[in-house]
Amino acid sequence: MSERTIPRPTTTAADDPRATVERLRRTFRTGRTRSYEWREEQLAGLARLVEENEDRIAEALHADLGRTRAEAWLGDISSTTGEIAYARKHLRRWMRKRRSPLPLNQRPASAWIQYDPLGTVLIIGPWNYPVYLVLSPLVAALAAGDCVVVKPSELAPACSSLMAELLPRYVDPQAVAVVEGDGAVTQELLSLGFDHALFTGGTEIGRKIMAGAAPTLTPVTLELGGKSPVIVHEDADLEVAARRIAWLKLMNSGQTCIAPDFVLVHRSVRERFVEILRTTLTEFTADRDGAGLRIVNRRQFDRLASYLDRTGGTVALGGTVDAERLEIAPTVVLDPAPDDAVMVEELFGPILPVITYAALADAIDYIEERPKPLALYCFTSDRAVRDRVAQVSAGGVVFNHIAMHVLVPQLPFGGVGDSGMGAYHGEWGFQTFSHRKSVLAKTVWPDPRFVYPPYTDKALRLMRRFF
Ligand code: NAD
Repeated sequence: MSERTIPRPTTTAADDPRATVERLRRTFRTGRTRSYEWREEQLAGLARLVEENEDRIAEALHADLGRTRAEAWLGDISSTTGEIAYARKHLRRWMRKRRSPLPLNQRPASAWIQYDPLGTVLIIGPWNYPVYLVLSPLVAALAAGDCVVVKPSELAPACSSLMAELLPRYVDPQAVAVVEGDGAVTQELLSLGFDHALFTGGTEIGRKIMAGAAPTLTPVTLELGGKSPVIVHEDADLEVAARRIAWLKLMNSGQTCIAPDFVLVHRSVRERFVEILRTTLTEFTADRDGAGLRIVNRRQFDRLASYLDRTGGTVALGGTVDAERLEIAPTVVLDPAPDDAVMVEELFGPILPVITYAALADAIDYIEERPKPLALYCFTSDRAVRDRVAQVSAGGVVFNHIAMHVLVPQLPFGGVGDSGMGAYHGEWGFQTFSHRKSVLAKTVWPDPRFVYPPYTDKALRLMRRFF
């Protein structure tokens, strides 16, 4: 795959975000995005976009992130097609009015809840899964019948320009627009006001998004990051735990929001677990011939390399960096102190700190004393341990695996506290981009006079009985 096959950034409506948003708002007012048929047509268009351009998507992911074909398919292609297929299968049901029962004093009448499209919404994407994390929120917004401005990350330029080129060809170009650009462009967009904005990115930028959205009261869903811990309990199957942790830590060079950030291992199994982890990581990277894993850009590379320079932990595997190729070897750091950078900052790279605990309560305290994670993992077959760990506040919890919850469209995906607010995927995404509207349809009869002023004592007595 070569970079030459990637199209240059196309000139899109990026030049004039205001005109783009106005155009989308006009489209929304025509009402055409509300019908089931329109929504289904858009989802079918997205399915064709991915199917017909799988090679180009993989090439763009390779150019931006050095991704292999297998990782392109796993991380961005199959995840997106799964979300599209699920939405197409269930959309009619999601759109149905939901009848509501009524208290006696409100009868005769009928009542229902209907999910209305919000209007024109904004999707702001990150660079790490630059196709999936733009298209899957788009699936939700189009299923909800909204018009959408998509702002992909400028740090994955090949994917950004590919989205700008392809989306208008596969979905209604009067309803979906791609605006390319950086943080300043995003703030300019936000200042125009939207009916909703869904942002995926880091916690610090998340604060800026919320601040940028406040003047126009644009509601936000924030899909943020953080440090996702893995507890390896004393009864864990250590081979399986090591394989699953290593798999997700290596995927996309560890640049995954729900990658295992650090491991808390029970002290009774620590030696064996670390040994198996080292062997597994070495085996999984045997085809790389000693080369490290590619990091997205110089800034991220320097950040990770400086953590390794400064760590007070013991490097049990890897630890080498290649500044020319922006590569970092899969690295295991044992027993870093709580204030070590690798234990404070979200790693977002192929570095895995491992610390030890003596009692489950200590591991849980360690997690609960820190910002709420996006994901919490625990390897155990002990039901009591599972019940206790499931109570810890985290965006999502997975037992005996890593990251799999993201691929279950029936489950809401989102963070809590510092790891985000709101959720999407499947019907949850449809609801995020819809207004849950109450409709109460009364009859003109009966129309009891006693509810109207002037009030008599008798009227008040009657009102007390009826309301
Ligand atoms: P980022 O926060 O740097 O950028 C994301 C987007 O915000 C980009 O489109 C960028 O152009 C825009 N942006 C940058 N500065 C801005 C500003 N001042 N105002 C407005 N917009 C601005 O995130 P990233 O580096 O692309 O992604 C990595 C982070 O995202 C990690 O923290 C990771 O955990 C998180 N993440 C979360 C999820 C999730 O689903 N919760 C998924 C992937 C990544």
